Amino acid sequence: MIAAIRGTHDILPGEVEKWQHVERCARVLCERYGYAEVRTPVIEREELFAKGTGETTDIVQKEMYAFTDKSGDRITLRPEATPSMVRAYIEHNLGQVLPAAKLYALGPMFRYERPQKGRYRQFHQLDVEVFGMEDPAVDAEVIDLAWSLISTLEIAQAELVINSVGCPTCRPVFQEALLAALGSDLPKLCGDCQRRATTNPLRIYDCKVPADQPIIDALPHSVDYLCEPCATHYAGVKGHLDAISLPWRESHRLVRGLDYYVRTTFEVLGQTLGAQNALLGGGRYDGLVKRLGGADHAGIGFAAGLERLVLALPDSAAIAATPRAFIVAIGEDGRAAAWLLLRELRQSGLAAQMEFEARGVRAQMKRADRLAARVTLIVGGDELARGEVTLRDMTTGEQRAVARDTVVAAVRELL
Ligand code: AMP
Repeated sequence: MIAAIRGTHDILPGEVEKWQHVERCARVLCERYGYAEVRTPVIEREELFAKGTGETTDIVQKEMYAFTDKSGDRITLRPEATPSMVRAYIEHNLGQVLPAAKLYALGPMFRYERPQKGRYRQFHQLDVEVFGMEDPAVDAEVIDLAWSLISTLEIAQAELVINSVGCPTCRPVFQEALLAALGSDLPKLCGDCQRRATTNPLRIYDCKVPADQPIIDALPHSVDYLCEPCATHYAGVKGHLDAISLPWRESHRLVRGLDYYVRTTFEVLGQTLGAQNALLGGGRYDGLVKRLGGADHAGIGFAAGLERLVLALPDSAAIAATPRAFIVAIGEDGRAAAWLLLRELRQSGLAAQMEFEARGVRAQMKRADRLAARVTLIVGGDELARGEVTLRDMTTGEQRAVARDTVVAAVRELL
């Protein structure tokens, strides 16, 4: 047997209904908030992520499924959606073409990570992006959409965490303060942190090594070093969130693992996922569109992990199966008549099935049970001779004869 690749998984019936539920809620909400769907390719040029996600990030340094294709080009399976969305935005001039550059996408991402619960090598994201708008109200709207997704899915005990990481004007000042505060403690931190101190000091806040935590907890907070425009922007975001009573908490450690974030960053944390507790995360990335060759347009967005949303769904999540009918056919004539009736039911929009192999009535009724059919139609010689079909309501067990030409309407009423 050839098994699925480590860190990938099949989504099977029984599980897939939860996925459909999550995807349906995501789509409905995105449409309601005015986002248009975009589908970008799964493969992109490697340099898109080197430039977009950032050379110093773990994603680009260690986790990309990159390869040289047959024409010698460096290609990668996309590890995240934002650079692809920015590329599409620039390439198709979407800022001009669309009435509002508010985009969403759903699809698989690929990262060569160590698999564990909630962390996979192929995983799926809902990705939401807004371009060309800098007002703090936009940050709040994006966060509101993220939070609405969590509440629509009835995921309890989720927590909204926000921060501001400043901009290219104020961040260097903060980084300097950070390194100064670290001072002689730096050699006591883990190897990763020491590397980060030279490549991207903010990422020290991402460290999970227990021994490092007391030192990191004592480091300064980015919000205390914001320049005046960043401070005003951040105050605006918090004001808009308060106005709609979103329960946010500020965390100075929320710096996010990617290089492009400026100003607002946010995450929603869940309770059921252990170490992989981020259900979604995002932030503002003004400057990225320009860095990837476009105009100097602002950007903000988030990505939610669908695997993690599915894992966090409450047991009570109402995920209704399509109600269906089942036709039990008796004898050759019955089967021929059932075949026509089956098609008629389906053409009229109802879900219906029958057994194609000749089976006894008991075996067919068993099948109807296994399929959880809500209605069974019994089509046999006697009924046919009378121009009737027997209808059995599987919930109540009630059975009655119905005229053949009214049977579709009768089934519809029961489903
Ligand atoms: P990121 O693109 O790293 O900011 O992640 C955004 C969201 O995607 C996270 O909050 C997770 O829900 C999800 N995610 C990221 N990496 C993985 C992974 N390897 N497996 C499953 N979900 C992931």
